[in-house]
Amino acid sequence: MLFSAWQFARREENENRLALVASEVALRDVDVSCPGFWTRLVEITPNAGWVDFDEHGRPADETSLSAATCKGLERVWRGEERSFACLVRGGCGNDTLAAVMGLVTLAHESWHLRGVTNEARTQCYAIQTVEPVAVALGVSPPNARLVATRVAFDDARMADGEYHASEHCRPGGAYDLHPATPDWPSR
Ligand SMILES: [Zn+2]
Repeated sequence: MLFSAWQFARREENENRLALVASEVALRDVDVSCPGFWTRLVEITPNAGWVDFDEHGRPADETSLSAATCKGLERVWRGEERSFACLVRGGCGNDTLAAVMGLVTLAHESWHLRGVTNEARTQCYAIQTVEPVAVALGVSPPNARLVATRVAFDDARMADGEYHASEHCRPGGAYDLHPATPDWPSR
């Protein structure tokens, strides 16, 4: 019982911390839900996160994140992921990669919560928002820039598909949040 109560309090603390950041991107008050201990044991979804939309295309007020996403993000804001330098020099551990995935996922789902439905557009906006999201979770600006640069680099090499439209997701493209600036990802 004590263990359960502690788990619950800790999960709530994480959800609240992440909801603050998601709300900043979504421009409204939204919630973040992480799976509880028992849900986690039976979690089979391959999704890192998701947002439900109603039949009118309106997003729910909450995103559900996977256990791995929640854990990666919790390590970030608790300061357990001090450096992302391995993204440049190589040799990143699974924890660091999970943290990066978590940051991209939180940014992605936050744009869905803001009302964007197209996946390629959502992911492109996420690529450009991962830097402020990381900073909001306590990552130092140089490290946040590192994460954003690496994520954008990997994204640019992706084949076109549901989650990537190279024609639009580039400096000056239709999905560029700051088309006037030549830098990528935009700041
Ligand atoms: Zn999506």
